[in-house]
Amino acid sequence: MNQLETRNLRESLPLIHWEENVPLASLTTLKVGGPARLVCYPKNEDEVLSVVKAAHRLRLPFHLLGFGSNILAKDKGYDGLLIILTKNMKNLSFDGQMLTCQAGVPIVTCSYEAANQGLSGIEFACGIPGSVGGAVAMNAGAYEKSIDSVFVSCRCINHDCQVVELSKEEMNLGYRTSRVIDEKLIILSVTFQLHAGIKTEIIELMEEYNLARKQKQPLEYPSAGSFFKRPPGNFAGALIEQAGLKGFSVNGAKVSEKHAGFLINTGNATAKDFFQLSRIIQDKVYQRFGVRLETEVQVL
Ligand SMILES: Cc1cc2nc3c(=O)[nH]c(=O)nc-3n(C[C@H](O)[C@H](O)[C@H](O)COP(=O)(O)OP(=O)(O)OC[C@H]3O[C@@H](n4cnc5c(N)ncnc54)[C@H](O)[C@@H]3O)c2cc1C
Repeated sequence: MNQLETRNLRESLPLIHWEENVPLASLTTLKVGGPARLVCYPKNEDEVLSVVKAAHRLRLPFHLLGFGSNILAKDKGYDGLLIILTKNMKNLSFDGQMLTCQAGVPIVTCSYEAANQGLSGIEFACGIPGSVGGAVAMNAGAYEKSIDSVFVSCRCINHDCQVVELSKEEMNLGYRTSRVIDEKLIILSVTFQLHAGIKTEIIELMEEYNLARKQKQPLEYPSAGSFFKRPPGNFAGALIEQAGLKGFSVNGAKVSEKHAGFLINTGNATAKDFFQLSRIIQDKVYQRFGVRLETEVQVL
């Protein structure tokens, strides 16, 4: 994306908030990655649609970013447009036991707001540091539950720049994947179906979940959560540990001592270090157990 293209895009939509050359390390929880050429923060659906239409018209590459909690951003950065909804698109409302949220709402907020209303179903997400858009795109989950257990429908922008409503059946929500990832759809808002529960019990359960996370996960270090998907019938962390790689590092990128499924940034890691570390892990685990570990993190 050159200077002229950047200027054309900005000038065609002067009311939108733009930033140039934003370090991806500052937009992702792993804290690595070079600059994103152009970043925008739309305030509503119309602005998202205008940006996407303009990017299509000018043939510029673009990508949706949530809280960047499942992203490994390359050191060379992203030479395109990043669309971020987590700054301005954070409305949430209840209609009986249905919860509708804009894509930029933290999924943790959904858990707590639902609990306050005495609504159960989404408490499993109370420690997932992603947005509603990112959680649906990844079909995020924990404690044997995932987004598909509460998902009803979402409003998306498709490849023809049309706003469409997609039902659960149309979303192909699978283990840490969905049609959103496959087709690069843009989620604008999502509706979840919850059910009546007892507020104190829901909050107690969420406190238990959060305590378990604190005890088991290296939350004191930058990471992207579980770096690899769970292979069928096994756990990535257990295989990595049994391969003798707990604590193994490539410069500042390290296999957590606390939870071998987490790769952490001990301070000065680069994306290259994480690519190298993950390749070593994949090779060793394959040689030792014949299991191919697939990355859960999305490379940007
Ligand atoms: C400490 C820690 C713990 C974690 N624990 C869990 C866990 O228990 N369970 C779990 O499943 N994950 C976990 N994760 C991973 C991560 O939080 C989830 O995958 C989360 O749902 C990603 O949301 P995000 O907003 O950060 O998305 P991002 O990381 O920004 O993006 C992830 C993907 O979603 C896409 N995306 C984001 N927003 C939209 C949108 N509006 N429209 C279309 N596509 C979009 C992006 O393009 C990208 O492909 C953890 C991560 C960390 C750092």
